[in-house]
Amino acid sequence: KPQPQPQQGGGESRRRFEGASMSVEPVDPKPRQGQGPRPLRAADPVDPNAALEAPLTVLRGVGPETAKDFERLGLSTLGDLLHYYPRRYDNYARMKTINRLQYGEECTLIATVSDMRERKFKGNRTMLQVTLTDGTGTVEVTEFNPYRKQLLTPGRQVVVSGKVDQYLGRLTIKPREWEKLDVELLNTGRIVPVYGLTEGLYQRGLRNLTAQVANFWARRQNDPLPAEIVSRAALMNYGEALAQIHFPDNETKLADAQHRLAFDELFALQIGVLRQRRDWQTTPAQPLTIPDAGLEAFLSSLPYPLTGAQKRVVGEIRADLAASTPMNRLLQGDVGSGKTVVALLAAAAVNEVGKQAALMAPTEILARQHFERIEPLAREAGMKVALLTGRDKAAERRATLEGLDAGDIDIVVGTHALVQDNVAFRDLALAIVDEQHRFGVHQRLALGEKGEAVDVLVMTATPIPRTLVLTYFGDMDVSNLREKPAGRQKIDTRAAPLERIDDVVAGLQRAIASGARAYWVCPLVAENEELDVAAAQDRFEDLQKHFGARVGLVHGQMKGKEKDAAMLAFQRGETQVLVATTVIEVGVDVPEATIIVIEHAERFGLAQLHQLRGRVGRGAQQSSCILLYKGPLGETAKARISILRESDDGFRLAEEDLKLRGEGEILGTRQSGLPGFRLADLSVHGVLLKLAREDVDAVLETDEALTSERGRALRLLLYLFERDEAVKLLRAG
Ligand code: ADP
Ligand code: MG
Repeated sequence: KPQPQPQQGGGESRRRFEGASMSVEPVDPKPRQGQGPRPLRAADPVDPNAALEAPLTVLRGVGPETAKDFERLGLSTLGDLLHYYPRRYDNYARMKTINRLQYGEECTLIATVSDMRERKFKGNRTMLQVTLTDGTGTVEVTEFNPYRKQLLTPGRQVVVSGKVDQYLGRLTIKPREWEKLDVELLNTGRIVPVYGLTEGLYQRGLRNLTAQVANFWARRQNDPLPAEIVSRAALMNYGEALAQIHFPDNETKLADAQHRLAFDELFALQIGVLRQRRDWQTTPAQPLTIPDAGLEAFLSSLPYPLTGAQKRVVGEIRADLAASTPMNRLLQGDVGSGKTVVALLAAAAVNEVGKQAALMAPTEILARQHFERIEPLAREAGMKVALLTGRDKAAERRATLEGLDAGDIDIVVGTHALVQDNVAFRDLALAIVDEQHRFGVHQRLALGEKGEAVDVLVMTATPIPRTLVLTYFGDMDVSNLREKPAGRQKIDTRAAPLERIDDVVAGLQRAIASGARAYWVCPLVAENEELDVAAAQDRFEDLQKHFGARVGLVHGQMKGKEKDAAMLAFQRGETQVLVATTVIEVGVDVPEATIIVIEHAERFGLAQLHQLRGRVGRGAQQSSCILLYKGPLGETAKARISILRESDDGFRLAEEDLKLRGEGEILGTRQSGLPGFRLADLSVHGVLLKLAREDVDAVLETDEALTSERGRALRLLLYLFERDEAVKLLRAG
């Protein structure tokens, strides 16, 4: 299930702190004293790295209770705190004024509370109606947290930040954070760090603590990067960057500090990625040389000739199979570019030399669809294909498992049921993972481990921006399918406000009467899947009034059999309108469908809209896509819709998407367990990536195990250890 989009463009989640760092593998840690920690004093002659392992309770003002609050943020040592970067900064010298607020933007302003009223409403809840003034105007703000009452007493100066919204035609602020104005900070005119908080912690107190740690410890840190790299990339020195990231002297220094620490993150990840690459490049694998004759015969039995791009990729895969190291390839293709048939050819190739292949798809619907596509073609060519999902009957399942074990089954298509312990292959040579972003890394890894030095082919649902490929798939070889099969027409894409839904339904009625087939997509919005399903259910019932029995419904909470039945009815044309949640987002292939209506299009990301739109335009007929949105649209949503209307090149859309959202959102890093960055933002720091990659390559060339003194310093880099682990998992695709 895709994550609902965060309200502030994902910045927060990307910058989320993700656990201990410095304590992972310290260089020469001092032996710990038996009697527990005592407060540190500035004069203590300590190893700066070891000192950072001290618990937070050594700081004045942090008792065991507060330490528990910090634990909830994943912070337990001084080092953790030193690397707990601010979520954002307020520049007190450059705050917004009320008369300059603009709809849709994030703002922070200093204002005086001129009035505060408490309102009770149903359920015995209270809200606070606050009037703020700043000499340029007034703004009404509603606060739903009654505990803010203390802070919001009339006459007090506060700093409020949040998103500018509108209510009844007037601008207002949806408050996210309130703070009492700290006059001292105001007077220094400084850039003030704002940290992520949790219950029990306050901005002001946390600032005091980070100030203690940053002032004393930051500049005492040894730089983990070799001096020549620091100077080649013109980086700020490490200690200085750590100090500036918390309390920047000015905006230039802040940018330099972010730049430096982002480089460290990219560098650390590249060490992991490139070591991984070296690792598989030295793993021996049995070369599989595929004779031409069998493949040619198979190709000629396909209902269409391959596109040039498909042919090229098949060639690349054959070369990988014939190599004496395992294949580790990422196949990127635009929606509808025909990845499935490439996968099938790869599977046929290994069968040709007597070995087995497995194709894993993220959903039941997709696995079944692949099976139905592949099975007749493969049977024709004398291969035996089986389907393995979580839903098979016991007897069927037993037969499949036995067939795989005995080697009677040549190709198995399935869901993550394929990676269960009791699935064993006689001789698995090729693992193909379709729509990889839907899988957890562990599941992907597990499929590759069902055989010896298995060749791995990973396919993406939509193209991934280049910088992200280098970052997260930097250890893999990449093939791109940019070309689409001939005869495809551009999909006519239009946007309309939800108020015009009746017109859309009327248009749909005319199209349906002349035999068209259409998807109607309802978004996943609430955290709660039941609520989302209820929304789709409502739309289904509503459309039934217009289309009667010609409407079907499919969503993620239906039983497998019901889902199949709904898909099948739509495939056969028994239903002509299919109301669906985003379960149809990836892969579903019904070439006769020519219309897709996407409700609440503003809630989807660009890549996701492109992917959904790719459900139509799969045949020779002209298709259309209608984006129903709820206004008013924010800037990002507007940009997304206009780019989508203008382009249907998934590779270009992917780059645009990266600019509009962060990489965390694109890759769904949170679901898949990929490491997120704290600072590095590939839409900004993409250039650093190339530099980091070159430097890492040079370092590994002479010291692959990182055992030299320099190498050991590098190991200390932020996150390195966690990254190394994560990348190992990535390797499975
Ligand atoms: P995707 O890359 O999105 O997974 P599919 O593999 O589902 O795309 O293919 C999309 C559609 O294009 C399918 O209906 C498939 O049969 C068809 N197709 C694939 N390759 C070709 C080709 N070379 N010529 C014509 N149609 C093709
Ligand atoms: Mg596909």
